[in-house]
Amino acid sequence: MKNADCIFCKIVDKKIASGIVFENEKILAFKDLNPKMRVHYLFIPKVHYDSLAHIPPQEMAVMSDLYAAIKQVSENEGFAQSGYKTQINTGRGGGQEVFHLHVHLMAT
Ligand code: AMP
Repeated sequence: MKNADCIFCKIVDKKIASGIVFENEKILAFKDLNPKMRVHYLFIPKVHYDSLAHIPPQEMAVMSDLYAAIKQVSENEGFAQSGYKTQINTGRGGGQEVFHLHVHLMAT
């Protein structure tokens, strides 16, 4: 499902350009516009969820799909050994600004 007003849904549909670094059937990853570290990617499900708090219990496998993609990219790009961090901002109080579930992946 897509949300017509959602900027990340538009990135999934390639209506807005982004620096895509990974894509499979379920997940898309692209470069953050305002990188906080040398590597700063956003991993999103192609299906729209407003946030982590909005995933129905029976659809939590999407988190596994996201982290499997993160693991693959960290290995392919060679920073799995040196290390990286992931972050999920959830809700306004959690610092979330874009309301399409995403995981930040950052590495030096
Ligand atoms: P959050 O605070 O977790 O919602 O983070 C949203 C992130 O999305 C921020 O780090 C923004 O820099 C990033 N962002 C917003 N719009 C775009 C875009 N069109 N392409 C890439 N990154 C974006």
